[in-house]
Amino acid sequence: MKEITLQMQELARELLQKGEVNVVLGWEKGTFWYLSPPAFVDKPEDVERLVYDDYCHHNLSKYLMDYRYQEGKVAVFLKGCDSRAFNILLEDNQLEREKYVLIGIPCPGMKDQEKAKEFGVNGDIPLAKKCQECKYPNPLVYDYFLGDKKAADEAAATKEAKAKEYSDVEQMEKMTSDEKYDFWSSQYERCIRCYACRNVCPACNCRECIFDQSRTGWIGKANNASENQFFALTRAMHVAGRCIECGECERACPMHIPIMLLNKKLIKDINELFGEYDAGVKVDGVLPLGHFDKNDPEEFM
Ligand code: SF4
Ligand code: SF4
Ligand code: SF4
Repeated sequence: MKEITLQMQELARELLQKGEVNVVLGWEKGTFWYLSPPAFVDKPEDVERLVYDDYCHHNLSKYLMDYRYQEGKVAVFLKGCDSRAFNILLEDNQLEREKYVLIGIPCPGMKDQEKAKEFGVNGDIPLAKKCQECKYPNPLVYDYFLGDKKAADEAAATKEAKAKEYSDVEQMEKMTSDEKYDFWSSQYERCIRCYACRNVCPACNCRECIFDQSRTGWIGKANNASENQFFALTRAMHVAGRCIECGECERACPMHIPIMLLNKKLIKDINELFGEYDAGVKVDGVLPLGHFDKNDPEEFM
C-alpha cells in the first residue's frame, strides 16, 4: 500500500499542478493510528498528506455531493465500494460523470477499527466484516488505475467466486415475530438519532431528507422506541435496491447498531423476488425498485 500511496501523491500533484482539477479527495492519517479520514487536497504542496493504508474506510463518493455546483473538476480515489457508490450517484442523477476524474485503486480490504482499538498497534487485527464479505474490491469505473491491475483482477476473482454470505440474515429469519420485535426494539432503543448512518451513506442522497422535515405529520423528532423504529424502517426502505453494501452506516454508528443486518435482509429479499442484483455495479437505469417491468412478481394483483 506504500507504493500506491506514492502513486496517489504523484498523480494528485500532477493533476493539481496542471490545473486539471481544483481539488483531490483521498484519505489522510487521523487523530489515531487506526483512523484514516477523508482528505481534501487543493494545493500541490499538500499532496503528501494523502495515504492509502488499512483504515481508509470512508466512502469518498458521498463527499462529491458537496462539489456538485462548483466550477471545475474534482479528482477522487475509488476503491471497489466507492466506485459502486459513484455509479449509484450517477444512476440517481446526482452527479455528472464529466465533472470528476476517477482514480481507481485495488482494495485488499480494510481492517476492523474496533478490533484495532482493542488489540493495539501490534495486534493481529482482522478485516472488517464488510470487507470479508466484499465481492467487488476493485473499482468498477475509473479514468486512471493505480497498482497492478492483473494481480488485482486475479485477487478479486477469488472473492467474486465466493457466494454471498447471508447466514446472519437467515438466523434472524428463523426468529418468531415476537423475537424479531424484541431484538430490533432493543437495538433501536439505543439509537440516539445522530443521523451519522444517513450522513455517511451514498444511497441517502435526497436533497431534502424526510428526517429533516420540520412540518408536522412527517416524522416525530422525539427520541423514543417507536419513533426510532420508524426512522430505521424508513431509512432501510429508502436505500432498498440502491444500497451498495459499503457498510459505512454501521461503521459510523456510535451505538453499534447492526444496521447491515437490515440492509442485507432487504438485499436478500430483492434478489429472491427480482433476481440477483448488485447495486452500483453498472449504470443502466434498471434499478429493481425503480423500474417497472410487466413480469415483476405481483402476487397481490
Ligand atoms: S467493502 Fe470491499 S472495496 Fe470497500 S473497503 Fe471493504 S474490501 Fe475494500
Ligand atoms: S445503507 Fe449503509 S451499506 Fe448501504 S450504501 Fe448506505 S452506508 Fe453503504
Ligand atoms: S448512526 Fe446509529 S445512533 Fe445514529 S441515527 Fe443511525 S442508527 Fe441511530
